[in-house]
Amino acid sequence: MSKTKSKRTKIYRLNLETRIEDLYSVGPAYSKRLKKLKIGKVRNLLLHFPFRYEDLSQTRPLLEAKPGTLATFKAKLVSIATRQAKNKRLTITEALVTDDTSTLKVIFFNQPYVLRLFRPGDTMILAGEVQYKPPYGKHLLNPTYEKASQKETVHLGRIVPIYPETKGVTSKWLRSRIKPFLKIAFLFNDWLPQDIKESLDLINFDEAIRQIHFPDLKVSLNEAMRRLSFDELFLIALEREVTRAQIASLSAIKIGFGKTKIKRFVGSLPFKLTNAQRVATWEIIQDLGKAIPMNRLLNGDVGSGKTVVAAVASCLVTLAGKQAAIMAPTEVLALQHFRNFRTLFRNWPIKLELLTNSYHIKSQRGKERILKNARGSLDLKSDITIGTHALIQGRVTFNDLALIIVDEQHRFGVKQRAKLKKQSKAKFVPHFLSMTATPIPRTLCLSLYGDLDISILDEMPKGRKQIKTHIIPPKKRGNAYEFIRKEVKKGRQVFVICPLIEKKDPKKGTELLDFDSRKAATEEYEKLKKEVFPELEIGLLHGKMKAPDKKKAMEKFKQGKIDILVSTSVVEVGVDVPNATIMMIDGAERFGLSQLHQFRGRVGRGKHHSFCFLFANSWGEKTKERLSAIKRSSDGFKIAEADLKLRGPGEVFGERQHGVTNLHFASLFDLKLVKQAKKEATKLVRIDPKLEKWPKLKKRMKEFEKEIHLE
Ligand code: ADP
Ligand code: MG
Repeated sequence: MSKTKSKRTKIYRLNLETRIEDLYSVGPAYSKRLKKLKIGKVRNLLLHFPFRYEDLSQTRPLLEAKPGTLATFKAKLVSIATRQAKNKRLTITEALVTDDTSTLKVIFFNQPYVLRLFRPGDTMILAGEVQYKPPYGKHLLNPTYEKASQKETVHLGRIVPIYPETKGVTSKWLRSRIKPFLKIAFLFNDWLPQDIKESLDLINFDEAIRQIHFPDLKVSLNEAMRRLSFDELFLIALEREVTRAQIASLSAIKIGFGKTKIKRFVGSLPFKLTNAQRVATWEIIQDLGKAIPMNRLLNGDVGSGKTVVAAVASCLVTLAGKQAAIMAPTEVLALQHFRNFRTLFRNWPIKLELLTNSYHIKSQRGKERILKNARGSLDLKSDITIGTHALIQGRVTFNDLALIIVDEQHRFGVKQRAKLKKQSKAKFVPHFLSMTATPIPRTLCLSLYGDLDISILDEMPKGRKQIKTHIIPPKKRGNAYEFIRKEVKKGRQVFVICPLIEKKDPKKGTELLDFDSRKAATEEYEKLKKEVFPELEIGLLHGKMKAPDKKKAMEKFKQGKIDILVSTSVVEVGVDVPNATIMMIDGAERFGLSQLHQFRGRVGRGKHHSFCFLFANSWGEKTKERLSAIKRSSDGFKIAEADLKLRGPGEVFGERQHGVTNLHFASLFDLKLVKQAKKEATKLVRIDPKLEKWPKLKKRMKEFEKEIHLE
């Protein structure tokens, strides 16, 4: 077969899988560039969606060309000429266009080829910014242009798509390449079941693809967006419902409710449970009593008292003669949970154990034995084991694990459960309870956490004092330090948080630069120790320190041997030191709102008045607005919601937790669409949890899981 013939055959068989390097209209140079946009096939080209549009569908009369405005004009070319600017670096093409109302100058910089594209007498469509600047006077500068013809326009005179671009690939180029292939959009598999489309009045997939690239009208663009948004929300909902059904098909051990003993345990606590804690505990008790594994999220603000709820659940499990495990994201937190549990279970005949990569400690009735870290295999026999990820590593086995509680990892997949079951001699998969570090707004629970049952702690324990939050401008730093000195004299302790551990690559330069750059914990530590508070005890804690040093620093702070602890975001979650009353955050503008709220939650945990000082190094309007949102509100749910609007779920919760990174169309806050998607997904899964009835849909769901990294 000759080369030309084979090429022709390929073109003839043009379909969605055709590789773009085989397209005459693309060629090797562009194929290479398009790889950066992950476009390798015609399919990808058609699924390369615009991220915004310019409405150039309305042309204006030239008389209305106002300097400083963007507009589209349809006008006849009167004259056009190109010249070299005096500095020779620049070619200037100057044209004059006219319509029935007026004339306008058009200036193109460094686009001499325009001269060859148009002749006087041609009608042009021009879109761009009207300017007024000497020496040209009023003119249109570097507009997008197209020859007006009878045919449908691609670039102008319509709602024009603007695409994600890459070096050497412009939106203009993409438009002209995508348009001809829209005629094979019908080849896409429209995987959404017909009755869902009908009942929700959604357009077909191929129509959505055509309209999303080249919308005929604004309403058709909206229809396309609605269909594609629904697709995303529906696929998420479906994946969650399928997971829910899968978990519900597993067997767990029923944990009976030892009412008298649990009441005694709750009675032994140093405080009364809040109403929200009681409700959550009851929901958990009911779940544990079922033969299917619990899959629950305990959703509560900092300080709402999640630990105690976890302790009651663990207690119930141990009363049934089974084991519970608690997994924390860091060693510091694991250690703290361990200490808390030791106190809570002080008078109970329960064996506690701590396991991280650096520690292995056993405790019973308040007595501790520190063990050498076990190297080989490790068989955990204690009633409650607390640890880090070390807990679920291969060498560790459990005797009879019935409950795993995980701090800050919202999801525990079917695979992780199966693995844990293997680690345990138990016949069943353990029940799962997750605890959040950041309260999750209800709308997000509905869209992203549809596979989990949710208990909400929306009530703070009584007697919590309001934390006074102050935004400190740079010139008041000294006053804040004096305030801190006074508090420490009264016996209180202070956290200082910096965005960086150390400055890796200190910028040489002016003072101003230095002032602008981020504060590093190591430097701040030196400065406070040597210059600001030489008479006080200053400590340092950050993620790069060795575990025993971290532990030492934390212990000393807890025991009151350190007055001021300089740290990074490692203290963000969970650290509990009731005597600490000031949280000072340097470079506060660098942190998300939810994170700032987390930091603030580290103080106000004891009987003393507490304060949060926010130092910002930049004073933009946005910074002020964000920081004052923190100052105003103490409701973590509200702050999380504001944060989500500003930054999106990825940055607020971290990819690991929510598992959704790149939704293109959908808003997780579109409550109406989220509810519709969830309802339809639930319906299908009820009919057939394996989705065998809808093979196209099943296939699409699998692809989608990969595309958006659903775990
Ligand atoms: P978080 O939800 O942030 O994990 P914790 O469980 O650490 O909160 O609880 C914060 C503090 O509140 C702890 O010192 C804990 O002992 C205390 N606490 C918890 N529940 C109550 C309650 N019902 N009444 C009074 N104090 C409580
Ligand atoms: Mg906690």
